[in-house]
Amino acid sequence: MFDANWHQIVWKFEKPMLITLKFWKKSSFKNVKLRRRSVQGLMILLLKMCLVFGQQKVIVIDPGHGGTDSGAIGINDILEKDVVLNVAKEIIGLNKTLFDERFAIYPTRYTDTLISLKDRSRLAKALKTDVFVSLHCNASPNASQGMELYVHTSKTEENHIKASIAIGLSILKESTGKLGFESRGVKFANFEVLRETVAYSPSVLVEMGFMTNTNEADYYLKPKNIRAKALAILMGLYNYLNIRL
Ligand SMILES: [Zn+2]
Repeated sequence: MFDANWHQIVWKFEKPMLITLKFWKKSSFKNVKLRRRSVQGLMILLLKMCLVFGQQKVIVIDPGHGGTDSGAIGINDILEKDVVLNVAKEIIGLNKTLFDERFAIYPTRYTDTLISLKDRSRLAKALKTDVFVSLHCNASPNASQGMELYVHTSKTEENHIKASIAIGLSILKESTGKLGFESRGVKFANFEVLRETVAYSPSVLVEMGFMTNTNEADYYLKPKNIRAKALAILMGLYNYLNIRL
């Protein structure tokens, strides 16, 4: 049923903060006849606004590949596209269970589908993300192992590059110190997802280990290890973002 008062309030709340504040100065609950459900809805809306305008940082997690693009194929037949999606889902889950939804985390894909690189960066721009994190696994014809992170080579986005390096080092520290992964360091690359996002936020591409290395490919067979890696990445982000809240 259409409720003129409620509609007006929702409309007001969809406008920027200043208009909202003006509205509150001029109005009070006494002047508006609201049904109980409308009041509850309003309170939820207010809480959400506090989070959006307050301290909840937005993180876009980008599980690489998907659909027809499997990414690297593991020595044990595990697929990069599945590993990165599983880690992304765990990051979202841990943010709810351990971090009480401290961050607003949005994945670029929830399922085994192929999203264009453009759409992945478009999401980061549209959400005004605070950090963009692309998840990948490595492959090599050699017996390479370990974890490395990439940041963009941009000379014009110095602040975002510095922040990206700090985030990369923080994620590496958690993964190498607590999970025993070898660190291959933070490196520079002109990858499209980094190039298209670095103007809007710090952005990192995480290579979570080598699918061509037996130990590292087997590591991702176990759900508890997927969770451990997700926690290391989330802690890496938390350690960086927390000191800037
Ligand atoms: Zn990849």
